[in-house]
Amino acid sequence: MSALLKEIKQRDPHHTHFHQAAESLLNSVSGYLDQHPELRTQGLLARLLEPERVIRFRVPWVDDQGEVRVNRAYRVQMNGALGPYKGGLRFHPSVNLDVLSFLALEQTIKNALTGLPLGAGKGGADFDPKGRSDAEIMRFCQALMAEFHHHMGPDIDVPAGDMGVGMREVGYLFGMYRKLSRSFGGAFTGKSLDFGGSVLRPEATGYGLIYFLQSMLTHQNESLSDKTVAVSGAGNVARHAAAKAIEEGATVVTLSDSRGTVHAPEGLDDAHLDAVARIKADGGGLDRLAEEFDGIEHYQGERPWRFDCQVALPCATENELEEDDARRLVDNGCRWLAEGANMPCTAAAVAVFKDSDMLYAPGKAANAGGVAVSGLEMSQNSRRESWSAGEVDRRLRDIMERIHRRCLEHGGDDARPDYLTGASVAGFQRVARAMLGQGII
Ligand code: GLU
Repeated sequence: MSALLKEIKQRDPHHTHFHQAAESLLNSVSGYLDQHPELRTQGLLARLLEPERVIRFRVPWVDDQGEVRVNRAYRVQMNGALGPYKGGLRFHPSVNLDVLSFLALEQTIKNALTGLPLGAGKGGADFDPKGRSDAEIMRFCQALMAEFHHHMGPDIDVPAGDMGVGMREVGYLFGMYRKLSRSFGGAFTGKSLDFGGSVLRPEATGYGLIYFLQSMLTHQNESLSDKTVAVSGAGNVARHAAAKAIEEGATVVTLSDSRGTVHAPEGLDDAHLDAVARIKADGGGLDRLAEEFDGIEHYQGERPWRFDCQVALPCATENELEEDDARRLVDNGCRWLAEGANMPCTAAAVAVFKDSDMLYAPGKAANAGGVAVSGLEMSQNSRRESWSAGEVDRRLRDIMERIHRRCLEHGGDDARPDYLTGASVAGFQRVARAMLGQGII
């Protein structure tokens, strides 16, 4: 273990998610650093792994029963060398400084990989939106903004959505920001099309994931149209990835939520995906999908990884795919895995893929489409323009193809590229140069 990693582990012994992300990054760039010793100077790695700033604050709000509730919110302003801090806000009971720090580190490399002028940040609160009324969600968002508006702005920090924060929440957050800052700047992305949002932003992470997967397949003279695909999750990323894969002719056989997995051996279609969106918006579980449609089975407490597939797309949450799941996928003949969620595969699962014939694409490359279209939303806002769906889709495809090429540059362009090394080195290289050029700050 490197001395730096040891120091990080000693300093914050409970930050296990952050250790996992940092260890993966340091291992992936170590070969490159050996060839470029100049990057081991100026405390570059130590600075990269320490947030520029962390803001922690309380969010007091009043629930529908008149009770005062207090949540804890954070913003990790990780790295501003390439542009304003950029990354989502997550509302989930599991939110803490460890989870947000790992997400912010992933975001640093991901945002650099897009090639756009985006720094990196991540934030959120340990607030559980499940079962909360619309009025409660609005009051919570407004209370959060009462503090956070001091720390953000179009050239400072530009938040967006993440788990538990969709277009409705971004609307309430943006509205309060606008009122308190008295300015209609492009200080949020993921806004509604009614007030400055970009077309295709909701679809962007899922569509981008499929565009990246198509680049992987094309590189091997393969095509998506004859593949069976297992998707986990039932949220924004999973549903749009599934929709795009279906549009491209693939057979998508699973989706999942915290309660279980639905399996459709003949494949899901758009009507199923519309039903999933409706059921989830109602707060229901995927068991209802199996009740509503023939040909779909629900497996309580199961993950999608036991079902036969050639392509696996984990789109739910961190560490959802463990070593046993990885073995089962490999044994069942799965050959491509691309991460729609952030760090959904444990380190042990990634090690299994490395020892197999499977091609593994990490989220920092494969799911960068979301933040990439956020970057396009920022451009549209500052130019006072709205681009067409065709224009945004073309740019998204270009960006994903370019990220794929960058991965090959540093991960090998033979039949079996190492996408983890490629993505980590390509992203790291861009941030490192910007940091070195700006001195020790
Ligand atoms: N939360 C998304 C991510 O993990 C998007 C962030 C953004 O659009 O700023 O990349």
